[in-house]
Amino acid sequence: MTAPPLDDTALEEFGLFIHGKSVDARSGRTFESQNPYTGTAWARIADGSPEDVDAAVASARAAFDGDEWGGITGFQRSAILRKVGDAIAANAERLAMLEVKDSGKLYREMIGQLKALPNWYYYFAGLADKLEGRTVPPVNPNYFAYTRREPVGVVGAITPWNSPLLLLTFKLAPALAAGCTMVVKPSEHSPASTVAFAEILFEAGLPAGVLNVVTGWDRSTGESLAGHRGVDKVAFTGSSATGVKVAQAAGANLNRVTLELGGKSPQIVFADADLDAAANGLIAGVFAATGQTCMAGSRLIVHADVHDALVAKVVERANSIVLGDPTAPETEMGPVANAPQYEKVLGYLEGAAAEGATFACGGEPDAERGGLFVKPTVVTNVTPENTIVREEVFGPVLAAYTFRDEDEALKLANDTPYGLAGSVWTKDVHRAHRVAAKLRAGTVWVNAYRVIAPNMPFGGFGASGIGRENGIEAVNEYTENKSVFVELTGGTRDPFQLG
Ligand code: NAD
Repeated sequence: MTAPPLDDTALEEFGLFIHGKSVDARSGRTFESQNPYTGTAWARIADGSPEDVDAAVASARAAFDGDEWGGITGFQRSAILRKVGDAIAANAERLAMLEVKDSGKLYREMIGQLKALPNWYYYFAGLADKLEGRTVPPVNPNYFAYTRREPVGVVGAITPWNSPLLLLTFKLAPALAAGCTMVVKPSEHSPASTVAFAEILFEAGLPAGVLNVVTGWDRSTGESLAGHRGVDKVAFTGSSATGVKVAQAAGANLNRVTLELGGKSPQIVFADADLDAAANGLIAGVFAATGQTCMAGSRLIVHADVHDALVAKVVERANSIVLGDPTAPETEMGPVANAPQYEKVLGYLEGAAAEGATFACGGEPDAERGGLFVKPTVVTNVTPENTIVREEVFGPVLAAYTFRDEDEALKLANDTPYGLAGSVWTKDVHRAHRVAAKLRAGTVWVNAYRVIAPNMPFGGFGASGIGRENGIEAVNEYTENKSVFVELTGGTRDPFQLG
């Protein structure tokens, strides 16, 4: 897939998007977004503050209460969601290119994501007209009882810099199906695509105020949204450390929260596995997207008998990975997405060496390329206690260590505060299902890695999060369940007795 030409010569301008209009930040301030591949600023972004968040929340509330959105049926929302999907498909190239410029991710990855995104809106369009309550058999025959599924209200969404539109869509598609409205605060490192996306959705027929975007350089923008009293639910994707702060801020208002957080996901390879397939899955798991995915399979837990053979295969492929221009069709790995993240990755590599690990490949910046490029790295000679095994690097770094039997493999795999994803590589179907059942993780792949779908729940155990995105149940995260009792006799009852 060839990308459109990269034009960094003029700064593109992106305002806030509030109530169907692009507006300047109230302060008049802007900040620049850097292209991590070229190292230059390519966009000027409105620098929103808590006052802008107030305006966006007020707009979302007005839309929630208004006839144009709050007053329409699930059938009508379903029709709008389908139009939204069509509009994303029609604008996929432009949106993918904005994400490439902001995050340095490969065009071939981002265009793949953008072309898949409409499926999320089509899938949830199919649920928008099926949010049914129940009639409940009476305990007391004097009452007719039923339940209603109602939208939670205004959602505050906060997203990270990797895959901004995919991770927004995990929240937005079910929220719209449920009838909610939203204010989204994208990452300061990759804000542009979300603004363009909201404009496209508005033009496709999403009423004003249903989706508002407040960008901001300062963390106070996200903080004010997470703790905003006008918001009914907070949906967050980002690091576990920030997730705790977001949950505390939302908790102060007793607001609902879903958190999609970090991971340190294991890939368990048994001795009977197809080692070529496993090596390919390990490459996909930790080097695709330069390792900057929450579900990165960053721990290789391999049977001791095949450790050397498997590591050799992974190293051979890692050394041939083509690093370079994210827009070039032959490129397989782009730069790290921003300077702080680059420093963080290098810090972990230094720390691993200091703790006695060895690098089977990589372990350093790509000096030939310069900029923010880090070589694909496989770390060996580690112990389960080493920092490189325990903490999320969010970069192209795989830590490999061994087991002798299934129990030990599971013990090592589950020895982590995280629980987002994991895989098992084996030809033994009995073992595959046993291990899949015992892995403490929200998603498990058998002889595969890094597969997601709109109709499969996604989320984490433990420090990887609270709640699930995607799948039928995701709509429940955006609906309230209301019980209604209707008195049938017209009579009165003892006011001092319950029920
Ligand atoms: P981050 O936690 O630094 O920031 C995420 C978002 O939160 C950004 O928009 C940021 O501006 C905002 N923010 C920062 N401090 C805040 C505060 N106190 N209150 C409210 N908002 C605040 O994460 P990041 O560096 O942008 O993204 C990388 C992290 O995201 C990794 O840990 C990764 O694993 C995780 N992630 C998880 C998933 C998932 O679905 N589980 C997906 C992608 C990324």
